[in-house]
Amino acid sequence: MPFSAYNLHPEVARGVADLGYTRPTPIQAQAIPPVLEGRDIVACAMTGSGKTAAFALPILHRLATTPRKGLTRALILSPTRELAAQIEQSFRDLGRHAKVSSAAIFGGVGMVPQEQALRRGLDVIVATPGRLLDHMQNPSFNFPGLEVLVLDEADRMLDMGFLPDVKRILKRLPIRRQTLLFSATMPAPIATLAKEMLRDAVTVTADRPSTAAKGVTHAAYPVPAELKSALLVELLKRGQINSVIAFTRTKHRANRLADYLTRAGVNAERIHGNRSQAQRTQALAGFKAGKFPVLVATDIAARGIDVEALSHVVNFDVPASPEDYVHRVGRTARAEQKGDAFVFVSPEEEADVRGIERALGARLPRVTVEGFDYTRRSVEKLEVPLSQRLAEHRARQKPRSGQGPRPGGPRPHVAHSAPRPGSGSAHTSHQTPTSHRPQAGAGNGRRSGAGRRGPFRPSSPSR
Ligand code: AMP
Repeated sequence: MPFSAYNLHPEVARGVADLGYTRPTPIQAQAIPPVLEGRDIVACAMTGSGKTAAFALPILHRLATTPRKGLTRALILSPTRELAAQIEQSFRDLGRHAKVSSAAIFGGVGMVPQEQALRRGLDVIVATPGRLLDHMQNPSFNFPGLEVLVLDEADRMLDMGFLPDVKRILKRLPIRRQTLLFSATMPAPIATLAKEMLRDAVTVTADRPSTAAKGVTHAAYPVPAELKSALLVELLKRGQINSVIAFTRTKHRANRLADYLTRAGVNAERIHGNRSQAQRTQALAGFKAGKFPVLVATDIAARGIDVEALSHVVNFDVPASPEDYVHRVGRTARAEQKGDAFVFVSPEEEADVRGIERALGARLPRVTVEGFDYTRRSVEKLEVPLSQRLAEHRARQKPRSGQGPRPGGPRPHVAHSAPRPGSGSAHTSHQTPTSHRPQAGAGNGRRSGAGRRGPFRPSSPSR
């Protein structure tokens, strides 16, 4: 069925045509008609399925067909900065001709420009929960004109501990509204939330829950843990991988892998929760532009990254849960293209892979790379053993020769913790072809960073 069958407002239909969408994806085909009718929906859809347009198009149609009121009419809650920025970009792209105004609001950048954006009553606000809640301390930012609320990647909100914030936000929003809940999986707390917040909802399931996007070819590469980096370099050098996001379990391993690749002559960047918003934005933009072939990322960074024509996802470390695997590999084969998802499996990780295989309902083919020396000893270690780290730390604490012990004992160790992943980052942008286009970063630290200056540059009238 072509998009024309939905009779979308002509300005919205032009946006669809501009993006080259000809036919709705399965989630769009199922979700768009009931949402156009004003129904609440609960949709099981994963990243890469075209779920953003599934809610954005009916919302844009509503905005374009009914009179504007100078108040925000649609609010989208997203677990991460990247996803928020990306969703808002979709609204801008699809809503270009309908002249819909929008802003993304998340932590890590300044509050003031966001307050200004909220005060202007832009049509669409896309926000992470933590930062939005900060703004909602001001009662005038409680969205009195709200018509549609979207909760995107609700399962991820749960994983990241945002459910209490989401519930607090819900309490302050107008009760009479349309509510759309999207989630890749449906764990019990999300099913309960859906029951509480949706009215007579239509359930839409385009994909079986916990099933990775179609079009992905999966393969497992058994390899000793200490040879994973060398194997990745080998596959890159052989040209078996061109453009890849490599996922590691920790920020530390992401850094070490990126350093290893660089030393091996492979251009690589990294995104994870310890990187500043500017660094993440730059890394992602460079990767999207094809400036370097490898982006090393942690899971937090995985959400919301939309990279056209990404050929491979490498699970450098086996993800802790099948859901994380599904989300990681959702980076490739988006909207029914083809892509490969490899998982490097050390003997210690075999059990986790079996969990993923159960969730996928299929055994991953095991692949051995011919000519790669699986028996060699590697001097590269991504993990510095705890004992070594402690020894290094103690050595740093030792008083320099000639100095006595510091009065009052050793120097206090100051730990710098990363912003909590997924929490309210801040960033606003605005609907206009010339406005700042937010590129994704990773995570979306909770209230940390409030008051820092951000990349906000409003450049178009609110309407
Ligand atoms: P999403 O799951 O919303 O993140 O979308 C994944 C990708 O699919 C994005 O790059 C969209 O631009 C693209 N996309 C969404 N809908 C369609 C469609 N009907 N036809 C082709 N591509 C689409």
